[in-house]
Amino acid sequence: MTTRCNELNFSGGPGALPASVLLQTQHAIEALPETGLSVLGMSHRSEWFLSLVEEASQNLRALLGLSDDYEIAFMQGGSSLQFATIPMNFAGARWAPPQYISSGYWSRRATAEAQRVYRCGVAWDGERTRYSELPDLAKLDIDPRAAYLHYVSNETVEGLQFGAQEAPSNVALIADMSSDFLSAPVDTERYSMIYAHAQKNLGPSGVTVALVKRALLERIPDGLPAILDYRTHITHRSNYNTPPVFAIYVLTLVSRWLRDEIGGLHAMRAINEQKSAMIYGTFESLGDAVRIHAKAPWRSHMNVAFSFGDERLDRAFVEFAGERHMTGLEGHRSLGGIRASLYNAVTGEAVAALCEAIREFAIKRH
Ligand SMILES: *Cc1c(COP(=O)(O)O)cnc(C)c1O
Repeated sequence: MTTRCNELNFSGGPGALPASVLLQTQHAIEALPETGLSVLGMSHRSEWFLSLVEEASQNLRALLGLSDDYEIAFMQGGSSLQFATIPMNFAGARWAPPQYISSGYWSRRATAEAQRVYRCGVAWDGERTRYSELPDLAKLDIDPRAAYLHYVSNETVEGLQFGAQEAPSNVALIADMSSDFLSAPVDTERYSMIYAHAQKNLGPSGVTVALVKRALLERIPDGLPAILDYRTHITHRSNYNTPPVFAIYVLTLVSRWLRDEIGGLHAMRAINEQKSAMIYGTFESLGDAVRIHAKAPWRSHMNVAFSFGDERLDRAFVEFAGERHMTGLEGHRSLGGIRASLYNAVTGEAVAALCEAIREFAIKRH
């Protein structure tokens, strides 16, 4: 069997997956080498699955250098469910209102959802610059009694990324890393909680990883529905109700790929930086033919939102790239334009082909 996927996938999510992972998944759908059964029919109570969850946790711990102060849960409901459960579990009358950085589409969604649960504050709002910039986190004036400070490490729609900036240390930090988790090393100790659904960088949709510091778990009020309480998922080792076995399986394959084929997160970062340098370098060489939505120095290594200047040209480019077997380039419905997502599994060759198409198109049309 071989993979028959000839299209280059630049989709914002679900995103591209490594070819070797797709091939193993294809075999596993017929029969897992370890059990002889299809992965789609494997019981979540089997020894195989229990050790799979254990391996997935261990691989994530090793890749991230995560200490034993953190618990890992594999949950469902996507990052959107986290938007709601975070304030339910970690805010409350003992703290001042949690603070949210509103820096783009997904952090606006997180803030709006939290506000339905609990009164919360907006520590910084990027609306003034149409969400084309990010704040300097260390300079924000955050009430140290605030329950936590929430932000989105990579704004998937606008193509903005915080990167390794200093963050306030006097308040619990919670980050939605859905679109740049495992794309580079991260100083996990700075966070009280990190979460990321799988479908951008780790696997198919259906599973969301939550890393939670033990100290934060002590805040959880009694009386929450069990399924919305992080302690339930941790105590039951992500097996409280039927978990997404298939998604966790593919995520585990991706974690092995990162470890064995890529060589860890430092190597992954180097590859991702090369890829994004290629595309931003291409834009630079084209002068003002292309407009990049995000301003430097906040331009994302993962998602690049850009435009040839008007809707007609952008649509023509998406079609032009489509003829060259490149898909998923339409901008998010909230922003329009074009978006190229360069997640971990998007290869340097795919990005080189995209850059070539951008250059050709710009030269022909301008
Ligand atoms: C895509 C995305 C989401 C939405 O996640 P769902 O799993 O669809 O709920 C949330 N946050 C970020 C940063 C995203 O990129």
